[in-house]
Amino acid sequence: MGAIAEALQDIHRRIDDALAASGRPAASTRLLAVSKTFPAEAIRAAHAAGQTAFGESYLQEALAKIEQLADLELEWHFIGPIQSNKTRPIAEHFAWVHGVDRLKLAERLSAARPAEMPPLDVCLQVNIGGEASKGGVAPAEAIVLARRIAALPRLKLRGFMAIPRPTPGRAEQRTQFRQLRELFDRARADGLAIDTLSMGMSDDLEAAIMEGATIVRVGSAIFGARSKTTREGQI
Ligand SMILES: *Cc1c(COP(=O)(O)O)cnc(C)c1O
Repeated sequence: MGAIAEALQDIHRRIDDALAASGRPAASTRLLAVSKTFPAEAIRAAHAAGQTAFGESYLQEALAKIEQLADLELEWHFIGPIQSNKTRPIAEHFAWVHGVDRLKLAERLSAARPAEMPPLDVCLQVNIGGEASKGGVAPAEAIVLARRIAALPRLKLRGFMAIPRPTPGRAEQRTQFRQLRELFDRARADGLAIDTLSMGMSDDLEAAIMEGATIVRVGSAIFGARSKTTREGQI
């Protein structure tokens, strides 16, 4: 078995164990394989091992890979920061967008979503850690914004996404994920029809699953360590 297939097997084991430990149903968390900075061949290897959903953060790099892999049946998720002048290619080439955090952006994505495609699945990014450097709407404003996004015609609001403050402590990880989960519960109690909590990465997926993650976004634990910079100069 190749290294990527083996790593995927390990991740599935970690996901299954965490679901079992938290008393959640098997298969209630999906794996999004984050392939940013890795070549199309790595994605091919993951697909051959059964993985179909892939996350990318840098638009130019993603579009090149989407074209190179057009022969495969893949589900592409855009998980990076979104510049408002890039909404059209994102709306045209992706199935999901995880980092929506302002109304203007959501309106542009909705307007650009081609009529022949299904509505674009989106998550509202929430700045749980309160870090000035991170994207995401403040938790106190999230439900009002979620309502307005849910009303846009060509988007389907699926739920919330967060990138918490990095911390090695499991308890502190869980505290941050719990905040997103509580927001999700409140939004649903308020009548929003959402089903997705996109949270948890290579180092903290167990904590995220314990708190209810329905999608974990895992990169380095599948594809290996990323070099610090990419063509677009971002990590
Ligand atoms: C890169 C990235 C990930 C994956 O992180 P790993 O630590 O490599 O698993 C997950 N989510 C987002 C938004 C990312 O940018």
